[in-house]
Amino acid sequence: MLVVMKAQATPEEIRAVCEHIEKLGFRAHPVPGAQRTAIGITGNKGEVDRGNLEELPGVAEVIRVSKPYKLASRDVKQENTVIHFAGTDAAIGGQNLAVIAGPCSIENREQAFAIAEKVAAAGAQFFRGGAYKPRTSPYAFQGLGLEALRIMAEIRDRFGLRIVTEALDSESLELVAEWADVIQIGARNMQNFSLLKKAGKLHKPVLLKRGLSATLEEFLMSAEYVMSEGNYDVILCERGVRTFSDHARNTLDLSIIPAIKRVSHLPILVDPSHATGRRDCVLPMARAAVAGDADGIIVEVHHQPEVALSDGPQSIYPAQFATMMNEIEQIAPVVGRVLPRCIHTVDATR
Ligand code: PEP
Ligand code: MN
Repeated sequence: MLVVMKAQATPEEIRAVCEHIEKLGFRAHPVPGAQRTAIGITGNKGEVDRGNLEELPGVAEVIRVSKPYKLASRDVKQENTVIHFAGTDAAIGGQNLAVIAGPCSIENREQAFAIAEKVAAAGAQFFRGGAYKPRTSPYAFQGLGLEALRIMAEIRDRFGLRIVTEALDSESLELVAEWADVIQIGARNMQNFSLLKKAGKLHKPVLLKRGLSATLEEFLMSAEYVMSEGNYDVILCERGVRTFSDHARNTLDLSIIPAIKRVSHLPILVDPSHATGRRDCVLPMARAAVAGDADGIIVEVHHQPEVALSDGPQSIYPAQFATMMNEIEQIAPVVGRVLPRCIHTVDATR
């Protein structure tokens, strides 16, 4: 259910409606919009009795949200969600394209700094790097853990890049929330509902990757798990799905972008690296993602991919990343976007 407040409803009226909902034993989620505030109601098993609600001061109407995902749906919020990062002009979901770049894994300080320097110089605003890695083989490199988080915090200080890294379980979630700017929840964990709920209790944006075979509805229901706990800053990420195709690691499903945008206000990024698994496919698919109205891209970059400890074959070289930035910058205006080039002032004293 959704309570739509009148455009001129006062903050007190909004608060009173929220309190009323909570007294009924449900959870109220006020969602401010450009025209009016809507209040999502969750926690109800069936229909909420709308009678009393409609009588409350400031209420315009009470409507049923027909989609199974509520807070993620455009019924609740018409405007696109834009996620801002305090102290920077970086944002995800607005007119500006967001670019997240970096290695699959943080391997050591030198490697991470060498790559961060290059992606910062090319104008990325976000740095990615795995500290906890979901590897198919238990014998493969599992990530440096806390040491990697510390290295990335240094990278933030030095290059002004916001840090995106994956949490694998409750233990790493706490650490990632403490050290990073965006918590990534990977494809394999898209339906780890207890992890999603825990991430929903935190106050850090969550980058949620699409599961290997998730439908649009399953994907948005996972976002809903995070949002239902009160964390509304969810960024979706299309990273390819399993199909019969064997020319690439996965099949990049770009048509999910307009499909998501139609029903949800959440931003959606594209990961052309995991979607294809092939360096030669990354640039063309990054261009296609921007042309296809993605809110940005997340891409793996490595200065020595031939010796990378994970995902070397899909990691592009820094020079290719710089080319990619130039190319998507040219495509951006066609779809009414801008690629902000963050000129990072490197803090040489550190
Ligand atoms: C990653 O981003 O390094 C990763 C493991 O991605 P995914 O969860 O999409 O496979
Ligand atoms: Mn990877």
